[in-house]
Amino acid sequence: MTGAENLDDVVAVAEDHDLVEKLSGRPICDRCLGRLFGKVSTGLDNLSRGRAIRESLGIEKGTECWLCEGLFDEIEKFSKLVDKEMEKAEFETFLIGSRIDPEVENREESLWAELNLQQFEAAKSEINREVGKILEAKPGLEVNFENPDVVAVIDTMFDHVEFNINPIFVYGRYKKSARDIPQTTWQCLSCWGKGCEKCNNTGREFATSVEEIIGTPLLEETESEGFSFHGAGREDVDVRMLGNGRPFVLQLSRPKKRTTDFEKVQSKINESKVVEVTSLQPSNRQKIIEIKGARYPKSYKAIVEFASPVQEQKLKEVVRSFHSKEVAQQTPQRVVRRRADKVRKRKILGFQASLREDKTAELLIKAEAGTYIKELVDGDEGRTKPSLAGSLGVDCRVKFLDVIEIHDEVGSDGEEL
Ligand SMILES: [Zn+2]
Ligand SMILES: [Zn+2]
Repeated sequence: MTGAENLDDVVAVAEDHDLVEKLSGRPICDRCLGRLFGKVSTGLDNLSRGRAIRESLGIEKGTECWLCEGLFDEIEKFSKLVDKEMEKAEFETFLIGSRIDPEVENREESLWAELNLQQFEAAKSEINREVGKILEAKPGLEVNFENPDVVAVIDTMFDHVEFNINPIFVYGRYKKSARDIPQTTWQCLSCWGKGCEKCNNTGREFATSVEEIIGTPLLEETESEGFSFHGAGREDVDVRMLGNGRPFVLQLSRPKKRTTDFEKVQSKINESKVVEVTSLQPSNRQKIIEIKGARYPKSYKAIVEFASPVQEQKLKEVVRSFHSKEVAQQTPQRVVRRRADKVRKRKILGFQASLREDKTAELLIKAEAGTYIKELVDGDEGRTKPSLAGSLGVDCRVKFLDVIEIHDEVGSDGEEL
């Protein structure tokens, strides 16, 4: 169909609504007139719809539109306001939203009802679309309704634009080779961040954290305003994270740059010597849910000390008895203040031991997500059953613990070990 035939359809629909009589005394601009039938036919703009209706039906045009009071003469101005905000960040996709005078919205709603219209378009939607069209004409910019990089909301009454930059997400895996770095920043337990003698006025319990070592270079590179770190579970401060590394997603808020030289950032992070990242890549919000909800089994290496000498033969026998065994772990005393006190059942998937000296052994343990390894070894005064200490009949404790592999091809809830 040609444009002219489409306009005939629009005029035909408009003819059925007594427009001349009902609009008399309420002058209306072409855009507002066309918008009353904005969803009749396609491939037309509201200006040409309005003009055609006016000419065919002989509707008079006053000096100022009763409905919009000149709002649509300001589209060019609104697009310039948005354009100015857009200079503040690099992006490719955007979406326009708007707030318009509620009086205009009331007038158009009452007119729809009064004229018994069904195929109208709202003023707001026209503003959004028309401003979007102007900006989309700029090279490299594209409107995106599902997942835009930025959203500009125009307040047409105050000529103000709220410019929202959506976050970006970076996936990676980290290894941690130090025993005094927590995954996330801890406030000083004595002053809760205010700064005191105990924390040397730093306000924190540990000088740095995995999230800071990873987040700061990425924050600088993307010129973001902040970040939040989401790990697939966490290890204790004194536990090293080795092997294939732990998956994480870093969320960066209000980034001015959305593309990153990952290789450069990776080597910057790895200069820390204590945290090493691999596989840095663009990610999304969905990935956070995925790694937070996962239940990955993990493999550990532990160095344990016995209170009295243990025979290698006995140790190997006891360890073998743990294969595929379920252990019942009441919430450990060291975390019970932070966690619900309940009994969790966890399966030990593999357990090997070799004696180093008569009172020291190296253990290799593979266990379900959420198994408390230190308590599996020392028994936590009977709160974990069975335990290595209980089965051997000798007190023992974990001296050093490392996560040596995260088996993330299967599923975990990210609970701590
Ligand atoms: Zn108007
Ligand atoms: Zn302090």
